Amino acid sequence: MSDPRPAKIRILPEAVASRIAAGEVIERPSSVVRELVDNALDAGARRIQLRLELPGAGASDADFWRHFALSVGDDGCGMHPEDLERAFAKHATSKIRDIEDVFTTPTLGFRGEALAAIASVARVEALSCDGDSGEGCLLRVEGGALLGRRGAASPRGTRLRVADLFYNAPARRKFLRSPQAERSEIRREFLHRSLGHPGVHFVLETVQGGEKPEIDLEIPATLDLRGRVERFWGAELAANLLPVETGEGPLRLTGFITSHRHRARNRSTQFFFHKRRPIVNATLSAALSHAYLNLLPSRNYPACFLALEFPDHDVDVNVHPQKRDVRFRDPDSAYRLVHGAVKDALRASLEGKATPGAYRGEPAGASRPNIFSFSDRGSGAGFPSFQAGFGVPESRAGSQPVQTVFGGENAAPFSGKRVLGQVDHLFIVFTDGPSLILADQHALHERIHFDRLRLKMEGGSGATQPLLSPLIYARSRNQIETLMLHADALKAIGFILSPFGEGAAQIEEIPAWIPVDRVEGVAFEFLDQFVENPAMGPADLRERAIATTACHLSVRAGEPLSLGVMQDLIDSFYRGGYADVCPHGRPFLYRLGGELLRRHFDRPSCGRGLVDTGDLERRGDGEYS
Ligand code: ADP
Ligand code: MG
Repeated sequence: MSDPRPAKIRILPEAVASRIAAGEVIERPSSVVRELVDNALDAGARRIQLRLELPGAGASDADFWRHFALSVGDDGCGMHPEDLERAFAKHATSKIRDIEDVFTTPTLGFRGEALAAIASVARVEALSCDGDSGEGCLLRVEGGALLGRRGAASPRGTRLRVADLFYNAPARRKFLRSPQAERSEIRREFLHRSLGHPGVHFVLETVQGGEKPEIDLEIPATLDLRGRVERFWGAELAANLLPVETGEGPLRLTGFITSHRHRARNRSTQFFFHKRRPIVNATLSAALSHAYLNLLPSRNYPACFLALEFPDHDVDVNVHPQKRDVRFRDPDSAYRLVHGAVKDALRASLEGKATPGAYRGEPAGASRPNIFSFSDRGSGAGFPSFQAGFGVPESRAGSQPVQTVFGGENAAPFSGKRVLGQVDHLFIVFTDGPSLILADQHALHERIHFDRLRLKMEGGSGATQPLLSPLIYARSRNQIETLMLHADALKAIGFILSPFGEGAAQIEEIPAWIPVDRVEGVAFEFLDQFVENPAMGPADLRERAIATTACHLSVRAGEPLSLGVMQDLIDSFYRGGYADVCPHGRPFLYRLGGELLRRHFDRPSCGRGLVDTGDLERRGDGEYS
């Protein structure tokens, strides 16, 4: 008698199950590179060579992958013939024994999946030797099946060649992007790994259609990450690197970020590591971007090369099959560490104090080697800095009251820049000796006010001041309704409002950092903007309020200014060590370097009187700086 409701669940054949599982680890050719290079690093290799074998010209995209192969060779510890065979079994690893070890293993791999996964979806040859006999073992594995094994000559180390990837998983192959896109992904994966291990020599070479191998990229071992970065991304980025080194209790952060002068079009030069393992983590990326708020225009990005070290049990590295992401037990502390350290490094650079001494906190366990072991930490020389040659500026903390810029008696001390005049009621013209500089008067003043207001606001966070005679803000009925709907959000940043009949509200209190004599203009303009876009978070709201106030307090474009006022402005700016971009990230200084002037007038540069004017000069004459 047949059952009318047959059972539906079946156990998948081993080969199918393992191909499905392999998909999690091996998504594309660059995943193979990631796993093989990690294995080589775990094996203690000092030299790692990646070779890409490309089909001859004329192969179609479909054909491409059939004829494509990659191999990774290393001079690491190698494998005993028995181990070599076992390495391809599932869950085969020499790196952990128990689940607890996952947290503490110093190796990049530990899941014992990679070789099995690769071998289940490709044709693999593995040659390895674990001693100096010169005699190793060669294995051939295809689709997870061992096809052959024999002795073969080999130096100590391992070479794995992976060909015809996804030959038995056509659906996967369809998901691959163009050969060119996949190759650049491979390259990026390779670079990312090399950045985490500056002490290892990396070589990338290509063989096209059976010709001789050509070296694409030779990355010698170095102690200096900066050199490696310069090699990949050029002198401009490298010249703008700022060191980061900080610790908080057992947490540690080291590496480099770029100053606000470097602007990338995307995030592709942002690299994070946890204990040398490249990771992608949303908390860390957010902490980085937030630290550059008001220093970079929107859709411009900094670069970073930052390595975190957290205690073993504070980080779960086993949340992602490709071990890309990690989970922090306390994401807030990770955020604070990165955000604080990046802000400190930026501030130090703006103030011309880009030496590790200026950073908050002593690195915990300072005797441990820096994970990037960059050799030039400790020297601030050569970092971009505003103040080169003009002494250490006063600290911005505890800065003067908001309007000192025009106050005769508490004018800023002379900055070494001499104001010459004003052009078109828009630009201040001044000189530092070797060059002529123009500043957008409004934007420069705005930057000063913006930073000072922010300091004030952070100092007395949330404090308000009652108005002796409340201001009446009258607008359309709809606008006032919207406003009153968000009264709580406004209250949180210091604006206390109450309804005042139809189509009006009464402003009773305002944030303490708004100068009371400017309150009408500032408050009205801010509320007008708010009504247009009321759905802002408190942090954005505060920034917006500060920006509006800064704009209001600053000299206007088109305003005639006396020499004394302009000199005061320039002195305040340089002595305060502010960023040379306005709060929206636009540059407002333009420098005509001495070299350019000389060239124009056909005067040979004689070296005489060429003062080091820091990075501005180095960025080329006549550029925005
Ligand atoms: P995992 O790296 O997670 O242990 P893999 O599948 O990547 O798993 O590798 C399995 C084992 O094979 C490793 O634990 C290691 O013992 C050995 N192995 C793999 N690649 C190499 C290599 N290049 N050199 C030496 N041993 C290797
Ligand atoms: Mg591995």
